[in-house]
Amino acid sequence: MNPTCPLCQPTTHETLWQDDFCRVVLLNDADYPAYCRVELLAHVKEMTDLPPPQRARMMKTVFAVEVALREVIHPDKINLASLGNKTPHVHWHVIPRFEHDKHFPNSHWGEVLRGGSPAQLDINDKKILIEKMGAHIECALKSK
Ligand SMILES: [Zn+2]
Repeated sequence: MNPTCPLCQPTTHETLWQDDFCRVVLLNDADYPAYCRVELLAHVKEMTDLPPPQRARMMKTVFAVEVALREVIHPDKINLASLGNKTPHVHWHVIPRFEHDKHFPNSHWGEVLRGGSPAQLDINDKKILIEKMGAHIECALKSK
């Protein structure tokens, strides 16, 4: 726990899934409605500060989130990113991308190339996403 670290605080975002190790939050980004972040609960700076089984656990969760997003949102591409330069607390960005989105093919932090009018995540899709995400994560965590 680091008192100045925003990821050590209770999240201000909607939590789609959580266990005692990490949480998956929906960032509610206006340009990227299904943009999720997988946040480790412990204040750890680098993936390699985690013992290997915990690294694997983190990545299983990230990949399960990716699979659920692909099934429900059908993006043209998924972007995975782990930077943490401003917030050095392990977290993974999982961003469904579309060829017509504001920045494609640039990073979503890159130069804006067009106006974006992303389809919003409707309540039914969100419900299905939460169900699938939970099922995929559970299944991934059981696998060796
Ligand atoms: Zn932290």
